[in-house]
Amino acid sequence: MVSETSKQGSVGSGKKVVVRIKRQEDLREKPHWEEFSLDHRPGMNIIICLRDIAEHPVTSDGKPTTPVAYDANCLEEVCGACAMVVNGRPRQACSTLVDLLEQPIRVEPLSKFPIVRDMIVDRSSMFANLMRMKAWVPIDGTYDLGPGPRMSPETQEKHYPLSRCITCGNCLEVCPQVNENSAFVGAAIISQVRLFNSHPTGAMHARERLAAVMGPGGVADCANAQNCVEVCPKEIPLTESIAEVNRQAVRQAIFGWLLG
Ligand code: SF4
Repeated sequence: MVSETSKQGSVGSGKKVVVRIKRQEDLREKPHWEEFSLDHRPGMNIIICLRDIAEHPVTSDGKPTTPVAYDANCLEEVCGACAMVVNGRPRQACSTLVDLLEQPIRVEPLSKFPIVRDMIVDRSSMFANLMRMKAWVPIDGTYDLGPGPRMSPETQEKHYPLSRCITCGNCLEVCPQVNENSAFVGAAIISQVRLFNSHPTGAMHARERLAAVMGPGGVADCANAQNCVEVCPKEIPLTESIAEVNRQAVRQAIFGWLLG
């Protein structure tokens, strides 16, 4: 996926990693850029760059500054928290290796969510949209309900890729339909609708889910740019999901009245 070539040296060579970071105190403040010159280390990723800056928060022209604020948790591309835009492309900072990037490396926050500070954005709209599109399986308690419907290994294997979404927001970042003038929920949420509609328990609420996804901001707002699938770190077949949910929605719109 990464096409940029290495321009780095190895440890002990005195090579530097130059990182330019877009800083912003909060939503009211205007963003500005700061440049840092860091010692290169083998296997260095963007999180290590941000940690090195936190240990020694001084810009490359010697000006003391504050550590860069960022979210990170698992550091193994599972939690989705460290999504940010690196060299113009949304990526997980934990799995983005410095040696594969062109320098100076440009690091910016995701632009489709409100800024909290520096790289930290408020992604709560994604979770609100998952709720709005009913992309979950409701349960009526936490007590033991016995075993659920059985799924064949073939079906499990087919659905597993859809369950890998880490709600990072990369797919929203590159979607032209996700913007301040649109209510489009984006590919990740529609793919979760597909996952839960195809689950034997989730299928019981497929009609409500499809009714929601046919409403404002739903699947009809996709303009088929297909950028989403290019940047998904979990390689989820997002365009297939959108096509499938679209088919289900059309079927329900035409034949739904037959089911009462
Ligand atoms: Fe991230 Fe992929 Fe989920 Fe979009 S679908 S939020 S890119 S993991």
